Amino acid sequence: MPYTSDDCLFCKIVAGAIPADVVHRDDHVVAFRDINPQAPTHILVIPTTHYENAAEVAADDPSGLAALVLTARTLAQAEGIDRSGYRLVTNTGADAGQTVFHAHLHLLGARHLTWPPG
Ligand code: 5GP
Ligand code: ZN
Repeated sequence: MPYTSDDCLFCKIVAGAIPADVVHRDDHVVAFRDINPQAPTHILVIPTTHYENAAEVAADDPSGLAALVLTARTLAQAEGIDRSGYRLVTNTGADAGQTVFHAHLHLLGARHLTWPPG
C-alpha cells in the first residue's frame, strides 16, 4: 500500500523536511537535482506518494507512472536536452544499485551516455 514513510529520505524531501534543489513540484510529482550527479543533467523525478519502486507505482497508479515520465520529458525540454537525447533509469533492487526505496526516475543527459551501463 502507498504511504508516507517517516523513515524515507525522499518522503522527507517531498515534505520539505530535508532541503533539495527542487526543479518541479505539483500534487503528484516532485523533481530535484541528484546530490551526486552522474551527468551534467541528473534529476530525480519521484511520486509524492511513497512507493518502493516504479513497478509498484505502475501497479497501483498507472497514470502516476505516466506523470513521472511526462514530467521527465518536460524537464528534458527545460534543460535543452530533449533533442540531443536523455536517459530515464529506474533501479529496482540491490543488483541494480537501488539505494533509496522510494520510486524514482533518474533523468540523465547533457553528455553522451555510453551503453551498456555499468
Ligand atoms: P538509486 O541508487 O536508489 O537508484 O538512486 C538514489 C539517488 O539518490 C542516488 O543517485 C543518490 O545520489 C541520490 N541521493 C541520495 N541522497 C540524496 C539526497 O539527500 N539528496 C539528493 N538530492 N539526492 C540524493
Ligand atoms: Zn518515501
